[in-house]
Amino acid sequence: KLSVMVVTRIAPSPTGDPHVGTAYQALFNYVFAKQHGGKFIVRLEDTDRTRYNPTSERRILEMLEWLRLSPDESPTKGGPNGPYVQSQRLHIYREHVQMLLEKGAAYRAFDTPEELAAAREAARQAGKQEQGYNRRYRDFPAEEAERRAAAGEPHVVRLKVPLEGKTVVHDLLRGPIEFENAALDDKVILKADGYPTYHLAAMVDDHLMGVTHVIRAEEWITSTPFHILILRAFGWEEPVWCHTPLLRNPDKSKLSKRKMDTSVDSYRAQGILPEALLNYLGTMAWSMPDGREIFSLQDMIEHFSLERISLGGPVFDLNKLKWMN
Ligand code: GLU
Repeated sequence: KLSVMVVTRIAPSPTGDPHVGTAYQALFNYVFAKQHGGKFIVRLEDTDRTRYNPTSERRILEMLEWLRLSPDESPTKGGPNGPYVQSQRLHIYREHVQMLLEKGAAYRAFDTPEELAAAREAARQAGKQEQGYNRRYRDFPAEEAERRAAAGEPHVVRLKVPLEGKTVVHDLLRGPIEFENAALDDKVILKADGYPTYHLAAMVDDHLMGVTHVIRAEEWITSTPFHILILRAFGWEEPVWCHTPLLRNPDKSKLSKRKMDTSVDSYRAQGILPEALLNYLGTMAWSMPDGREIFSLQDMIEHFSLERISLGGPVFDLNKLKWMN
């Protein structure tokens, strides 16, 4: 048993149909938290206003309820705190960005979209590999930047990424993964519309919510060095990182709705039972120590371990699920 309370989370972006990949992440996070007597949190990451879909939010929560993977901090259970919705927490992210600005760990950048495009084009023509941000405002005098910001000049805030050295991601399943800092960009943490980016909001929330284990899809591995640098800029500890293999189509490509129905609402409409879906998802990247293929959520809580997640590409086949159902 771990000595601190285990806190896990899923952080879906409400952009469309409740995705089976969200159910899969929810299952592993839920099971791990329950096994350790911990908490499972749901956080709706709706800070990308161009992709926001209002019905998606409700349907994701309904899907979790249908699967009986309800969050521990939820108004439906009478708790005051959740599920957390990032667009309701903007003041928190802004305060934290301010802290980084004051520490000199972040800076305001006033480049217009046209200037950014022109700089990228110039870098491309000069044959540069890295076509990230040219760091034009990185060493800009802070008082001048504050004056321009106060005058209402549109700008973003970027993280000052170290120019040298390495950032090492210690992934529970993969061991250390090294990233050269020089290859990381001074990514935006606060957008011109006043919304935080995913990177900033997710790390502030993971810290404030006491998340101890970030169990999420492997597509986020390349974001993790940046996440670690955000945590360090605040002086916060890292969680345990555990990146799970992505679900695949039978042809091994990344599961996508062009090749396979990925909507849990659609499975429900087709009469698939929540127990069958959970059982099938439990066999993706994981297996019972005794090899049993039929097991319940409770069985999984009893026997789960993150170390037994296997890194092959788990194939999600809806026909097989229908057959199991
Ligand atoms: N909002 C991200 C997503 O859509 C969350 C990724 C993470 O778990 O950090 O999956």
